[in-house]
Amino acid sequence: RRKKLQEVASLPAITADGRRIEISCNIGTPEDIHGAAANGGDGIGLFRTEFLYMNSNSLPSEEEQYEQYRKAAVLLQGKPLIIRTLDIGGDKKLPYLRIPEEMNPFLGWRAIRICLERKDIFKTQLRAILRASTEGNILIMFPMISGVGEVREAKKVLEETKEELRRENIKFDENIRVGIMVEIPSAAMTADIIAKEVDFFSIGTNDLCQYALAVDRMNPKVSSLYQPLHPGILRLIKNVIDASHRYGKFTGMCGEMAGTEEACVILLGLGLDEFSMSAAAIPAIKNLVRSVTIKQAEEIADHALTMDTPEEVLEYSRNILNQIN
Ligand code: PEP
Ligand code: MG
Repeated sequence: RRKKLQEVASLPAITADGRRIEISCNIGTPEDIHGAAANGGDGIGLFRTEFLYMNSNSLPSEEEQYEQYRKAAVLLQGKPLIIRTLDIGGDKKLPYLRIPEEMNPFLGWRAIRICLERKDIFKTQLRAILRASTEGNILIMFPMISGVGEVREAKKVLEETKEELRRENIKFDENIRVGIMVEIPSAAMTADIIAKEVDFFSIGTNDLCQYALAVDRMNPKVSSLYQPLHPGILRLIKNVIDASHRYGKFTGMCGEMAGTEEACVILLGLGLDEFSMSAAAIPAIKNLVRSVTIKQAEEIADHALTMDTPEEVLEYSRNILNQIN
């Protein structure tokens, strides 16, 4: 099976009836792109930029960041690179940025909430990303969006940053696309409102499951309740995908769920356009995508949506996988 999967890795991700699906990779540094390419990734669906901030004793400069984003864009040779802006806070602390002690850090001052308050940090990163955007196919993604207000605010800062660069005669991709991570239930439920303001969504199921199921993603005591195939999660995902398509936008997924075989066919049937995962997961997911038609996947997803419990969905999904593999 491993040999077969290795052969599949280099083939395109096209369903049995010819629909092209984007299979991309999550990375933490530009060097990770080599592993993504070796496993047949189409591009980068999530570039977590935290490494720049965590491996440093002070805020990384615009120049330091620019170098890394540029390097990644060049390595990708025109394939998409979705750069997520700083997602610090929660479990990720920076010694040089004083985040006050919080009772519930995951519900606290993190990610876009910090960036909208510390516009100096935010703009430095946006400048670096914009400058690198002339070197490849870069998209910008904002994390931890809870509603359209934050999207508008973040886009306003982006527009201000672009204006500054224009004044300085510094080039950037004027058509750079902007999206958000959908990882807070309120964003998933208002996807129809937000879709008008963005070019794409990427569903972050790691946090979406944590918030929607009220299950700490790192607490082993409640890990059995952490169920991405919960009917409540499937409905949220469907809502996001449907809303994006109504406005001609695309939806990807960069949470762990996108790289799991149990979820793959259902997500395909729900209409997910892009699956982004760790490099090692790519061959098996590609193999699945190539094994089913969209019509089959849609029927499977429709049936899964009629089910009452995560256990039922999981069992159904495993039976389907046994038939395919
Ligand atoms: C997510 O929340 O699903 C996600 C991809 O982001 P992170 O795991 O970095 O929080
Ligand atoms: Mg997240």
